Amino acid sequence: MGNKEQEIDTIIVGAGAAGLIAAGTSARLDKSVLLLEKMKSQGRKMLISGKGRCNITNDSYASHHFKKIHPNAKFLKHAYKKFFKDDILEILSQQNVEYKTERGQRVFPVSDKSKDVVNAISNWALSKNVVLQTDSKVEEILCNNGKIIGVEYTQKGIKKRVLASKVIIATGGKSYPATGSTGDGYNLAKKLGHNIIKPLPALTPLITEGSLANSLMGLSLKNVNACLWVDGKKQQEEFGEMLFTHFGLSGPIILTLSREAVTALDKNKVVEITIDLKPALDIDKLDKRLLRDLQEHGKKNIENIFKLWLPSKMVAPMISLCKISKEKRGFDISGQERKRIKHYLKELKFKVISSRAFKEAIITQGGISLDEVNPKTMESKLVKGLFFAGEVLDLDADTGGYNFQIAYSTGSLAANN
Ligand SMILES: Cc1cc2nc3c(=O)[nH]c(=O)nc-3n(C[C@H](O)[C@H](O)[C@H](O)COP(=O)(O)OP(=O)(O)OC[C@H]3O[C@@H](n4cnc5c(N)ncnc54)[C@H](O)[C@@H]3O)c2cc1C
Repeated sequence: MGNKEQEIDTIIVGAGAAGLIAAGTSARLDKSVLLLEKMKSQGRKMLISGKGRCNITNDSYASHHFKKIHPNAKFLKHAYKKFFKDDILEILSQQNVEYKTERGQRVFPVSDKSKDVVNAISNWALSKNVVLQTDSKVEEILCNNGKIIGVEYTQKGIKKRVLASKVIIATGGKSYPATGSTGDGYNLAKKLGHNIIKPLPALTPLITEGSLANSLMGLSLKNVNACLWVDGKKQQEEFGEMLFTHFGLSGPIILTLSREAVTALDKNKVVEITIDLKPALDIDKLDKRLLRDLQEHGKKNIENIFKLWLPSKMVAPMISLCKISKEKRGFDISGQERKRIKHYLKELKFKVISSRAFKEAIITQGGISLDEVNPKTMESKLVKGLFFAGEVLDLDADTGGYNFQIAYSTGSLAANN
């Protein structure tokens, strides 16, 4: 064992969004804080967030946030009452970071630089009572008679021990492990008797069977409707933008559907996604439109007529899917062929076989079971002095700034108690 043991008030494990807010909050309560971070610097995930712009929060009511949070948003009621979007925005204002609200009430820094947000939150958090120690990986949380007594960590290969009666685990999930979030918090909590809801990737691209997606690789579609089917039953529907990739489907609406898709795949269910390429037209209106175009342009080759309906990259794969000979002209298309065109335009089906791994998942679903955490304090119901904050908890949200808000609010509440 290394150096002599020190005793401080609160140890926070992980200097991401949750850990930093917890540190700043504890310090303002005049507590001595040791913030242990295993990477060389804090807030690595925040730096790459929002495509480098950091979607700080969502400027909407808590009731709206709750609609975007899974699996039990009510758990956050108390945390959001105590610290919500205006509180994080106030901290940023104090640190002279201006912000703006974009489509979908997403809040970003005016500079469009996540670095400004990380610097501001760090400046606010790392005040006089807080010591941030980087390159310090917490290996074990020490507990005696059901009470926290400290942690053991390694710093540059040297094992150390610090004593404290309060530890906040803010180690994040398992997604984008290169940022430091490798799921350590789950093991630390498990050793203390906590139940972990199986961590799975969420907000992640989906891998599909067959070569259709691959043949459309790089094509992005706007204003389409994607529908998720599990064991043949419609589960969820999203309207907006999507993208075809070499392995399958991605883009905003697919990421939103991915949570349920991954959960269902994990239970060995049959998962399919259908894309409605013409959501503005119901089946009768679409039929009329096809009939009109096929007649008006009857002398044209079918490939050219398809270009009236779809982006050129989709034309050849769709004609082949509809089993229509490329040589045919509009006049030659039979009723059966038109029926098939209509079907594929309204219900282009992909069988989902798996998802991209944690490496590419924006968020981790699952984590520390909420049943064993007090929602009024974020304290463990099993171990006195043990608290949780952020993505390590069994909480996750859709894109839009909701995930960071979970981290700030739970970080603040954990520190306040
Ligand atoms: C590419 C990408 C873009 C995103 N964009 C947005 C966005 O724009 N808006 C939004 O709301 N959400 C976004 N998210 C989600 C958001 O980043 C996370 O939900 C949020 O960072 C969770 O905060 P956290 O503090 O709980 O965990 P993290 O930010 O993951 O921080 C955990 C910290 O703990 C450290 N740690 C882990 N184990 C140990 C250990 N044993 N000892 C010491 N330290 C340890 C890690 O190194 C890390 O620094 C994005 C995620 C990704 C991957």
